Amino acid sequence: MENLRGFLLRAAKTTPEKPALVERSADGGLSTLTYRQLEDRVDAYAADLDKLGLDTGDRVVLESDVTGCAVAMLLACATLGLPFIPVSPETPAKRLAAVLDAAEPALFARAAGAARAAAPEDTAGIPESVGLVHFDPDGVHTRRPPLPRARHRRRVVSTDTAYIIFTSGTTGRPKGVVMSHRAVVSLLSALLTEELLTPDDRVATTSPLQFDFALFDIGFALGSGATLVPVPRAELTWPRHFLAFLDEAAVTHVDGVPSIWRPVLRHEPERLAELSGLRGILFTGEDFPLPELRRLQRLLPGVRITNGYGATESMACSFTEVPSPLPDDLERLSIGFPLPGYDITLIGADGRPVEEAGAEGQIHLRAPSLFTGYWDDPEATRAALVPDPLDPRSGRQVLRSGDLACRGEGGELYFLGRADSQVQIRGHRVELREVERRLLELPGVSAAVALLVPQEGQDPRLLAFVVPGREGGTEFDAEFDAEFDKAEARAFCAETLPGYMIPQDIRAVDDIPLTANGKADRAALAARAATPS
Ligand code: ADP
Repeated sequence: MENLRGFLLRAAKTTPEKPALVERSADGGLSTLTYRQLEDRVDAYAADLDKLGLDTGDRVVLESDVTGCAVAMLLACATLGLPFIPVSPETPAKRLAAVLDAAEPALFARAAGAARAAAPEDTAGIPESVGLVHFDPDGVHTRRPPLPRARHRRRVVSTDTAYIIFTSGTTGRPKGVVMSHRAVVSLLSALLTEELLTPDDRVATTSPLQFDFALFDIGFALGSGATLVPVPRAELTWPRHFLAFLDEAAVTHVDGVPSIWRPVLRHEPERLAELSGLRGILFTGEDFPLPELRRLQRLLPGVRITNGYGATESMACSFTEVPSPLPDDLERLSIGFPLPGYDITLIGADGRPVEEAGAEGQIHLRAPSLFTGYWDDPEATRAALVPDPLDPRSGRQVLRSGDLACRGEGGELYFLGRADSQVQIRGHRVELREVERRLLELPGVSAAVALLVPQEGQDPRLLAFVVPGREGGTEFDAEFDAEFDKAEARAFCAETLPGYMIPQDIRAVDDIPLTANGKADRAALAARAATPS
């Protein structure tokens, strides 16, 4: 059971005719894949892959959007003990090359019909030593066989690698988070105890396949015996199309990073309010700006909103219901308590556990879903998987997360930011999120990012970007306000923040640039900050 395939296809035994996936079909309608059909496709793909002579542990790069075929392909890899490395069709060639270089895969499996598959030279950029296949509903089609290899036939065990997710890594070199079957299955099993879904739910997934949030969604929906509904990337970015798709596919639950809601809240609030079938929303990955969250709640009053917290290194670790409605004086959202079977210790700057409410410490996570290590990077692994600070001689390891948090009076946790986003300004330690939090209290502002910009030969400058709305409009009226008054905004910050935390410049932008995974793209903003306003 502790293989991803076995866990996610349980419903193929109990409810084989239930839809596992509903997706956009080539003719523009919707097509359904039942659990039985999904299992058949997994078996067919596994048989095709097996003929290629791959060995247990050989890595397969899987390039696709989230589709029924992609889900079948990753489960076929899981069946055979082939770790898969998900990448999106939009992955820039240079980044893809870096992943291929680091992972040394045996095979590249590309969704047929994707842009690169249609290119006349679709082996471009894939080293000679790597085989190439296309896959579609008819099966796996070999373009170039992988190199022959010695096969060491052995059983696939639960500690084998299920997948490797390459994250950006601070050094620019992709960092491969290696996750075992056991880790993913334990996270998904713990998640089921939260009872967020029923088998009748239809779960929209909005993240690209390379982001482990997409894998989470696949596991969340199929592990619950529910239906996964991938939102086509092209429809996601058009608020009207996005909402029409949710309606057409009778979606009951939407998963995604907070930024997926920004265009909808701004351009189609009335249509959003009409989505009567929606019961749940789950977000993760970064803070949900409170003004946008309040607006979402007002438009969808009966919908349960869940804040999922965690990192790729354990897939996730807590799921907390957002209070509805949010109290007016609420300053920050809680990330609640770790999942059953999980535990968090906060470790202060002095290396000791922090117990008292309000005191800051770094999240050290004990969890059954901890990653195995970083691919081919023992040094980074040693820095993240450290001896349990409460039991250092036990040999047990915990995840030193790099995230800072504090506890409330009831023991609940509050995420305070990343340890590496704390900056020094004129000798003061500043948490950029605190600056952002204040900017979000400005009437009309729906998103804010603060940055420290280095200056040659001078002190670095604190700069902020905000997305302002029109003041005095209706509560949903968040039209971009080009008349944003910087001086007034700085004065507003000065009411509560010390001088060194007041941004020297606050620039109004009509949107925050996003990374490929939909999080605020701080690097892009830093580049923009280098140019005069
Ligand atoms: P990346 O580091 O590339 O963003 P991850 O998806 O692993 O990749 O990011 C995990 C980080 O995102 C966490 O360590 C935390 O800093 C942040 N994060 C995750 N969930 C939340 C949340 N619910 N609220 C605020 N921040 C979050």
